[in-house]
Amino acid sequence: MRQQIAAANWKMNLTYGQGQELLDRILNENIVLSAHQRAVFAVPFPYLVMAYQRLVSKDNYFAAAQNCSDKKSGAYTGEVSAEMLRSIDVKYCVIGHSERREYFGEQDHTLAAKVELCLENGITPIFCCGEPLSIREVGAQNSFVETQLREAMFHLAEAQFREIVIAYEPIWAIGTGKTATSAQAQEMHAHIREMLGRKFGKPTADNIPILYGGSVKAGNAREIFQQPDVDGGLVGGASLQAEEFITIIRSLK
Ligand code: PEP
Repeated sequence: MRQQIAAANWKMNLTYGQGQELLDRILNENIVLSAHQRAVFAVPFPYLVMAYQRLVSKDNYFAAAQNCSDKKSGAYTGEVSAEMLRSIDVKYCVIGHSERREYFGEQDHTLAAKVELCLENGITPIFCCGEPLSIREVGAQNSFVETQLREAMFHLAEAQFREIVIAYEPIWAIGTGKTATSAQAQEMHAHIREMLGRKFGKPTADNIPILYGGSVKAGNAREIFQQPDVDGGLVGGASLQAEEFITIIRSLK
């Protein structure tokens, strides 16, 4: 079965102590993940080692970064490289979150460089795509998302692309409490998979996890995750509450 992933995105929330407590409460549930399931925690950079130390002994639990530099190394004050993340054993990195595109001006060619650097360092990019409301309202979401994927990832060889995780996050559903219906999520995920199949071949496309993100919570996760092309979720707000995220992990197929 394709990998199913519950990915928490803490964004710029929680103090160090609050982060420790949240992780401990979730881990104390001792949820045993099946071989195809993963729980991933995208925490702020200063918490990565703490998260790694708590998660490393648990099968299929991983710490993730929320971003990395598009540069390899050097005089880039304030940046964190993929190589640095590898050196502390980080296995996943969120790339191209809509908040980074919107507030930090990240563009597709920058994201292409980040994806490549992650792959070179054995880090799985969780590549975010998704349309704003204005695009959804005119029904242009499929071509919008297709362009995002093409510009940042279609230069990859098929063997490289096999390591990617995609998160479809309609911007109008992020942090707004508005969730795409499970039918809307399924429709876009199927479209993404079909598009990937055209480029990289059906067997590869069928194996790529495509997560849904946008106001996923305990109360809607199971219905969304049950859709055939939805392979779990990237979760912001609800991942900051232990009970919510525990239920979300338990909702994986
Ligand atoms: C996100 O941060 O990627 C996200 C989907 O946020 P939220 O779950 O709060 O909508």
